[in-house]
Amino acid sequence: VVEMGMPERSVTTTCAYCGVGCSFNAELKGDEVVRMVPAKQGKANQGHSCVKGRFAWGYTNHPDRITKPMVRDKITDPWREVSWDEAIAFSVDKINGIREQYGSGALGAITSSRCTNEETFLVQKLARAVFNTNNVDTCARVCHSPTGYGLNSTFGTSAGTQDFVSVEKCDVILVIGANPTDAHPVFGSQMKRRLRQGARLIVCDPRAIDLVRSPHVQADYHLQLRPGTNVALVNSMAHTILSEGLENRVFVEERCDMDEYDGWREFILRDENSPENTEQYTGVPASMVREAARLYATGGNGAIYYGLGVTEHSQGSTMVMGMANIAMATGNIGRPGMGVNPLRGQNNVQGSCDMGSFPHELPGYRHVSDQNVRDIFEKEWGVTIGSEPGLRIPNMIDAATAGTFKGLYVQGEDILQSDPNIKHIAAGLAAMECVIIQDIFLNETASYAHVFLPGSTFLEKDGTFTNAERRINRVRKIQTAPAGYADWEITQLLAQALGYPMNYSHPSEIMDEIARTTPTFKGVSFDKIDALGSVQWPCNDDNPEGTPVMHVDTFVRGKGKFMLTPFVPTEERANRKFPLLLTTGRILSQYNVGAQTRRTANRLWHAEDWLEVHPSDAEMRGIKDGTLVAVASRMGETTLRAKVSERMTPGVVYTTFHFPETAANVVTTEFSDWATECPEYKVTAVEVRPCNTM
Ligand code: SF4
Repeated sequence: VVEMGMPERSVTTTCAYCGVGCSFNAELKGDEVVRMVPAKQGKANQGHSCVKGRFAWGYTNHPDRITKPMVRDKITDPWREVSWDEAIAFSVDKINGIREQYGSGALGAITSSRCTNEETFLVQKLARAVFNTNNVDTCARVCHSPTGYGLNSTFGTSAGTQDFVSVEKCDVILVIGANPTDAHPVFGSQMKRRLRQGARLIVCDPRAIDLVRSPHVQADYHLQLRPGTNVALVNSMAHTILSEGLENRVFVEERCDMDEYDGWREFILRDENSPENTEQYTGVPASMVREAARLYATGGNGAIYYGLGVTEHSQGSTMVMGMANIAMATGNIGRPGMGVNPLRGQNNVQGSCDMGSFPHELPGYRHVSDQNVRDIFEKEWGVTIGSEPGLRIPNMIDAATAGTFKGLYVQGEDILQSDPNIKHIAAGLAAMECVIIQDIFLNETASYAHVFLPGSTFLEKDGTFTNAERRINRVRKIQTAPAGYADWEITQLLAQALGYPMNYSHPSEIMDEIARTTPTFKGVSFDKIDALGSVQWPCNDDNPEGTPVMHVDTFVRGKGKFMLTPFVPTEERANRKFPLLLTTGRILSQYNVGAQTRRTANRLWHAEDWLEVHPSDAEMRGIKDGTLVAVASRMGETTLRAKVSERMTPGVVYTTFHFPETAANVVTTEFSDWATECPEYKVTAVEVRPCNTM
């Protein structure tokens, strides 16, 4: 599959795909990577890897790489290759023109979880210190922003509570809306190993994921709920725990805010939250909910692992708080083998959020309205920072269509493919006067861009990624980007040309600035990471070598806070015209929108998205395995091949979203999480028909 030669040297770096953050030794012959070998010393992967990471380097030298900056006056013009000086000057003219005519509020920036911590930090610094706006956001907006809201509200910080290896101390594993064996394969294998040793397993998912019934592992309980009913389910588990006296009263009294607990207890014990009542929404038999809740509460160390099946809902933030509530109520937090653990889909979602790339937060999850925090950055950067939150990605697009948002700098993100309601995104981009895309390939969003700045892959820069267990891993430069610059250098060129004195000579200096300004990173430096192999934040005077398990003696916010979590059904409803509910997920060999994995050997394993349909729904519609079907929703229509599968429950269909040809987000809904506007990708009412009859 891959041509190899005998390696002459190797450099240790970090996989740029999922949030496991596996360490690899990139083996080189001359200046060329010939193989990626999982590193035995990697603390997240201990010598293991998956089929994505092993071939990850394949796309870095792909002929589709853009190697020269390009500009054009109108998006209908052909691209014109120019020098870096011309591209930066062209961008600066546009940015200054917009700022003069419409003000700083008409500008914004979007960064990506594929960028390093240092690059993301610079993008939000560019927005705040150079554009003079808090209009900065990250792709976490469309995946784990509810994790930020939910875990901040309950525990006081937005991060997984345990390290991966802690799973080896789990007695009961509760997997909610995640598919670790496909989306986080190395951790999925670790979890399976623990399950084979006898840990019990509860899976909450509308689809029978691999963990539910694989040759070696079977779930004790599969709560196969209807899409959109997570909160009803977790409330009914909480109801069982409280009504049957299974809570850990000692833990709650010692560690949690009792006023909040008493209010939550009164709310949960209402009849509306009983398993017998919520069954009408979830479709999960009350008896099964009760048994699963008893197992979680009394089966020993209970750990929750969750994914986008939790967050990408109109009640995503509510559900995160619901899980935190049951963890606190049962005392399942603060020791190895327990906790609430978001499985981050992308390599640096955690870092991207940590670095302040949200419009309401400065680095370290500190609100922009806090003058004390602004003082730190204003002094460091020599600017004044606005106290009002800026625009989120969907707000930027809305403002663009309304004519008040005019210029956007996007680093490493393809919003036209990854964000919901693609037609609206396209209209917003088309209405802007300047869209600057910095990426490695001419992505879908670039079709609306005026400037294309060719960026760098993970092999072409130094920096750090932070994985789902808060582990900061080193990314090491192995080769030079074909266009000459790492992404952080391009951001710096822009800042300098806009008149701001940004003069880092190496990303380690950016990390030093992060450490100076952000208490949880106070003890982090490249030297320390190089010496220890990796560091889990918080890393400060109290924890100089990092923190594997959080909230051990107290929560970050002091007392744990129970939050009320009333179930509100999604506005997206199935009806006669759209009787099925579509939900989405990932497959083992492909990564996200596929821009990278489609350009590696992985294309051989999985070359198209498909639609899984339950046999009864398929038969009713004359659909067989391989039938080309049209999937239509209130938002749009797409075409893909059907796979008839018992994994689905009747009335629910499922697709992956790795290929632009099928563009699942053409059909996904316009609804989003009430607190964070994370899109509700996981619930879309659709109809499916063989193509020739629709
Ligand atoms: Fe590890 Fe994830 Fe990369 Fe696979 S994709 S090698 S599990 S980091």
